[in-house]
Amino acid sequence: MNLNLLERLVRAHGTAGEEAPIRALLTELAAGYADEVRTDPMGNLIVHKKGNGKKILLAAHMDVVGVMATHYEKEGVVRFTQVGGLDPATLLQTPVRFKNGVWGLISCDDNKLGKELKIKDLFLDIGAKDEQEARRLVKPGDTAIYYAPVMTQRSRVISPYLDNRAGCLVLLNTLKRLSSCPNDIYFVFTVQEEVGTRGAGPAAYGIEPDYALVVDVTCPDDIPGALHEGTTALGKGAAVKVMDRSLISAPELVQKLNSIAREQGIQVQQDVMSGGGTDGGPMQRSGGGVPTGGVSIPCRYTHAPTELIDWNDLEECVRLVTAFCESEFE
Ligand SMILES: [Zn+2]
Repeated sequence: MNLNLLERLVRAHGTAGEEAPIRALLTELAAGYADEVRTDPMGNLIVHKKGNGKKILLAAHMDVVGVMATHYEKEGVVRFTQVGGLDPATLLQTPVRFKNGVWGLISCDDNKLGKELKIKDLFLDIGAKDEQEARRLVKPGDTAIYYAPVMTQRSRVISPYLDNRAGCLVLLNTLKRLSSCPNDIYFVFTVQEEVGTRGAGPAAYGIEPDYALVVDVTCPDDIPGALHEGTTALGKGAAVKVMDRSLISAPELVQKLNSIAREQGIQVQQDVMSGGGTDGGPMQRSGGGVPTGGVSIPCRYTHAPTELIDWNDLEECVRLVTAFCESEFE
């Protein structure tokens, strides 16, 4: 379990649109294993491992959800808006770190405690004594990310931002594991997925792949009261995406992934997610169309300040994606 690397990834700033720090870290980590590393005009990081076969685009979004400062109160606290989808019920008393290093704590108006919270009821306490000091520490438009511990319990990992730094780790480990490869592989770490999959389309348009495979987390259906918005469970292996709200996977890719898994003894489950989309949507519709599929990591509490996955699922994802890259295509 490469927990240190995961921790480096989840600590790197990278709210949607402000991916420079995580992009720099991924560049550093990938450079030694790639033939070419470049950034496209949207900010997508493109890591190319050359081969003579099919052109395959592997995508994992590197951006995360977070908060952005907007208004100030005379008491010195900072109101914020959300970058990506946040559930106010999960945010109370979460520590955050601004890109400029300022620490804060998400709290709520005293008279709203115990009520159903909206984002406008919440504020960031950055320890400022008054509005003036708060304005000196944090400017409107400054962004912050969740700060929470990274822990393991047997194979389970509890950490912020498993969505989708766990997916980035799958791509990195696949890149490291690929020795010689019959196919032409583009590892793409996309931007702005969390605000409506804005980076993925231009990335696919620029690369014009024969196939695209999206690696992201998926919503499992394995806690009390689960609403059947997903079909996966933690610890049951890599999830082969069949459909989400943005994408119906190309049937030949679903079939191929499942038969690779059968042949190589990789544990897989089928992923139908009715509760959200991925970068696969715009990639499939890019240019003249791209056959697109996905490999997902089941992840509980997605977009909450702390999420939970099973490391064995992540490992099976690496095996499956690596085998996919090494396979022959008709
Ligand atoms: Zn995601």
